[in-house]
Amino acid sequence: MQFEDLKLKRQFLNAVSDLGFVKPTPIQIQAIPRILAGQDVIGVAQTGTGKTGAYVLPLLQKLKGRQDGAPRVAILVPTKELALQVHGAVESFAMHTDIRALALVGGVGPKTQIAELEAGTDVVVATPGRFMELYLKGALVTKKLHSMVLDEADRMMDMGFMPQLRDMLEVIPRKRQNLLFSATFPQRVERLADEFLLWPTRIEVTPEGTPVASVEQYVVRAPNVQTKINAVLHWLTDAHPESRALLFVRTKEDAKRVRVALEETMPRQVAEIHSNKAQHTRLAAMSQFRAGEVRVLVSTDVSARGIDVPETEVVINFNVPRMSDDYVHRIGRTGRADRSGMAYTLVDPTDEVALVRVVERLPAESRPQDLELSSQVEVTETPPWEAKSMARTIDFQKRKADPTYKGAFHEKKRKSSSKSGSGGRRRKKR
Ligand code: AMP
Repeated sequence: MQFEDLKLKRQFLNAVSDLGFVKPTPIQIQAIPRILAGQDVIGVAQTGTGKTGAYVLPLLQKLKGRQDGAPRVAILVPTKELALQVHGAVESFAMHTDIRALALVGGVGPKTQIAELEAGTDVVVATPGRFMELYLKGALVTKKLHSMVLDEADRMMDMGFMPQLRDMLEVIPRKRQNLLFSATFPQRVERLADEFLLWPTRIEVTPEGTPVASVEQYVVRAPNVQTKINAVLHWLTDAHPESRALLFVRTKEDAKRVRVALEETMPRQVAEIHSNKAQHTRLAAMSQFRAGEVRVLVSTDVSARGIDVPETEVVINFNVPRMSDDYVHRIGRTGRADRSGMAYTLVDPTDEVALVRVVERLPAESRPQDLELSSQVEVTETPPWEAKSMARTIDFQKRKADPTYKGAFHEKKRKSSSKSGSGGRRRKKR
């Protein structure tokens, strides 16, 4: 199957060829004809499958060039980074047309975006919050919208955008084409799809929540943080010395700590990105990574939503993610469209519970393999503070799984705290 077989017009065939795409991806093969035919489509596809092109190309073709005034296509995404990335994709697919597109995102004052909207646009790519804000200011006129896309719908639900999406549905024309893309399709997304789409066709490129097959996934056990750092350094400097790597951590504090630790060995090669960083700092970190100026980007899950660097060869999970969907999203950052990738997940004793949860949800053929820590990696002794903190976490996990469980650690803690006089209060809280 070639792009030519998808009834795309010459301008778009030239654009994909200029972008270096040789043939359409499976989601593009399935989605493009249906969208061109005007159907509502649900696409279950993760990032890396070419899903952006799958909806952007046919929507642009249906616009038939520029029109003055209000936008006709709205693409809603969960994060600023993804909005900027999708906007970039729209501009490249539209490079041989006169179609205009705007990214409407927060983090900067709305003034410029208001002025840009006044100048006219055909496509807007927006986060739901900024979309509604500009609508309420009267800057974003919705009456000409005839196509709406919800991209990464699962993540939009996770981030609590449902109220804004409902508000939006109230203010856009009823007669429109709707497209919904999501990496996973849990019940909450199904409910959203029910509200949002009319007789949709559902297409799926891999079974729900399946990591792309081109990624080799490994689970590697390490007893403590320092050993994890040693393992990461081994992968980055010995095993994959040239490659670009995304390293996922749970919290922004972890992001900083891990970056600082890696930088001791790899000065000026590591950047950090998380949702609390100022917008310009996040964008700077992203573009440095994209340009290959830094080899390693340390990120939390939320910030990673917009990261699309096809050259990312290695994904490292410093911990097992707590949400199993995040695992699929994270490793979907490598092995994109026709490339292969590696994904390592570091597991310490506190990660075992989450690991079971993640692995259970994956189809048998796409589960990660166990890999021994290389003999080149120094296994350091666990410092007492870390051992204690892990014991506490494991105790908590066991109590959560079995409310009748009373760990030794837990008993000791209760005795010592009642001696100090705070036991009564603690007990009441429980
Ligand atoms: P997406 O799943 O939309 O995030 O796309 C993932 C990556 O694949 C992006 O870097 C795209 O530029 C690239 N891509 C999209 N379509 C194709 C294609 N048909 N052939 C090769 N690469 C593609």
